[in-house]
Amino acid sequence: MSNFYRETVTHVHHWTDSLFSFRTTRDQSFRFDSGQFIMMGLEIEGKPLLRAYSLASAAYADELEFFSIKVPDGPLTSRLQHLREGDTVLVGRKATGTLVHQNLLPGKRLYLLGTGTGLAPFLSVIKDPETYARYEKVILVHGCRHVAELAYGEMITSDLPNDELVGELVKNQLIYYPTVTREPFVNRGRITDLLASGRLFEDTKQPPLDRETDRIEICGSPEMVTDLRSYFTKLGFEEGSGSKAGHFVIEKAFVGSSSMIPKSAVRFSEKIMLNQIDKRRV
Ligand SMILES: Cc1cc2nc3c(=O)[nH]c(=O)nc-3n(C[C@H](O)[C@H](O)[C@H](O)COP(=O)(O)OP(=O)(O)OC[C@H]3O[C@@H](n4cnc5c(N)ncnc54)[C@H](O)[C@@H]3O)c2cc1C
Repeated sequence: MSNFYRETVTHVHHWTDSLFSFRTTRDQSFRFDSGQFIMMGLEIEGKPLLRAYSLASAAYADELEFFSIKVPDGPLTSRLQHLREGDTVLVGRKATGTLVHQNLLPGKRLYLLGTGTGLAPFLSVIKDPETYARYEKVILVHGCRHVAELAYGEMITSDLPNDELVGELVKNQLIYYPTVTREPFVNRGRITDLLASGRLFEDTKQPPLDRETDRIEICGSPEMVTDLRSYFTKLGFEEGSGSKAGHFVIEKAFVGSSSMIPKSAVRFSEKIMLNQIDKRRV
């Protein structure tokens, strides 16, 4: 059996010059949990060219959705950004990742902290009824440089509250907090600063962080992830993983080099695919 499904692109949307989203068909046998990622890519000259991608669609949706960067000289995304309806993409059969409910201890509030395409796994998490069954409040923070990069804002504020399955839960339990760093906007500043200053809690009318009740999922640049890991660790929060549930969990939204491919990907995803990545990255 092949390591991949061959899925057909059904819809493409370009947000900005550097961000786009697309949807594909979904093989009926493909299963994943909200917050997970897979290896996804294109067949180039008969060989797979793959990268880790978070699944932005609900785990129960008929189609798969991806939220992607366009790296000008990126081996995959310089090609992927030209996708059109009807094109074929390769989707790895094995979903994995740390941003899953069972890696967190029970709590009352769930903070989802994402920058850039780090929003992608949380798009799946906020459509999952289990998220609202586990937590009284879910606070989604999306940080970007520019307002135009706050993709999915309309879907989160207008469409999701009217969704048949999770609409009522979203209306009562989800707080969406978009923030930008480089131009005027209602919320401004880096996530780390908004946490440290307490501004995030004032604006969302939430009490200060409490290890007993608050759980956190983080997905962003390697620097953002490092800063927040150190911030929460200093507060006494413990990082969760597949082997031990904790107070917060982390996934990098991208890596700087192939040597930084997450261990979870090596463990669960096909090593063959990662070898392909290594070869293509040089
Ligand atoms: C667990 C995991 C999940 C990921 N999920 C997504 C996702 O949902 N959407 C997505 O677009 N990317 C995601 N990525 C990054 C993705 O794997 C690729 O790096 C990206 O698609 C670019 O591929 P490339 O071959 O064009 O360039 P690469 O050679 O892979 O990257 C070139 C450089 O571009 C920068 N870069 C790469 N990806 C990003 C990004 N997302 N945002 C900002 N800068 C970036 C980095 O500096 C990187 O060194 C994820 C990575 C990991 C490890």
